[in-house]
Amino acid sequence: MSTQREIKRLKGEKDIVIVAHNYQMGDIQDIADFVGDSFGLAQKVNELEVSNVVFCGVDFMAESAAILNPDKRVILPDLKAECPMAEMVDIGDLRSYKEKNPEAAVVSYVNTNAETKAESDICCTSSNAVKVVKSLDNEKVLFLPDKNLGNYIKRFVHDKQVEVWEGYCATHDNILPEEVRRSMEEHPEAEVVVHPECRPEVVDIADYVESTAGILERAKKTASDEMIIGTEKEMGYRLEKEVPDKEYYFPGNPTCQNMKKITPEKVLNSLKSLSPKVKVEEDIAERARRPLQKMVDLGRGK
Ligand code: SF4
Repeated sequence: MSTQREIKRLKGEKDIVIVAHNYQMGDIQDIADFVGDSFGLAQKVNELEVSNVVFCGVDFMAESAAILNPDKRVILPDLKAECPMAEMVDIGDLRSYKEKNPEAAVVSYVNTNAETKAESDICCTSSNAVKVVKSLDNEKVLFLPDKNLGNYIKRFVHDKQVEVWEGYCATHDNILPEEVRRSMEEHPEAEVVVHPECRPEVVDIADYVESTAGILERAKKTASDEMIIGTEKEMGYRLEKEVPDKEYYFPGNPTCQNMKKITPEKVLNSLKSLSPKVKVEEDIAERARRPLQKMVDLGRGK
């Protein structure tokens, strides 16, 4: 039996759901029950009434799902699927910043490890980052770890002092403005939509700046037949599947190798063994749960 068919069979037999991030390979997206951005998946896992969740994404996403859902077994098919940006926060540096700036709220992008979240006041994703920062009473805010998303937030928040950590996502930061411009010259009618993890010079020339969920929404809404997209190239798979009547171009062909560590074979092994389970130390999980839950509640309008 093919791996795909075996996965479908096992899924039907066990109390299990597969979720996948938009940057997962097409054959993983095809076997998932839900595909989405990190915020959408966090909400979805919260709502699911199942005991086991196979999370096809990178470590911080699965970790967040496990923290928010201590009653569920969250499985990451390859524990080495790590986000390099999440590792760009030195916890000692963060603690010393907090000591020197006790008045500042710490807003951590969901792309952080559990220890960083445990030191944070609230988490956010790219789809709600501006809303989260605006919701705070503090006049001073530290945003981490993505400097590009942090600088994007600063464009919309003028009544606060927003300080930005020096981290970045290499996949998005490597999308160069000259590549985007070249693509615009080749496809002058195309709408340009980029992710806020892109550098400011790329954001400046885009028509829209959106999370991956927002990019999909733009594709559904726009009258344009062509789109130039500034995010990880696998987003193209979802776009072509859901909005097939357009052409999509990805300048620089950005690829996140960590996302590609999840393969159908590893998913099948996880379904058979219900492992490897994502584990977060209980005291860290408890402290990280509050800022994560605040983010989810804000998304629900609570
Ligand atoms: S695309 Fe960037 S932020 Fe997302 S997992 Fe890969 S390295 Fe991390």
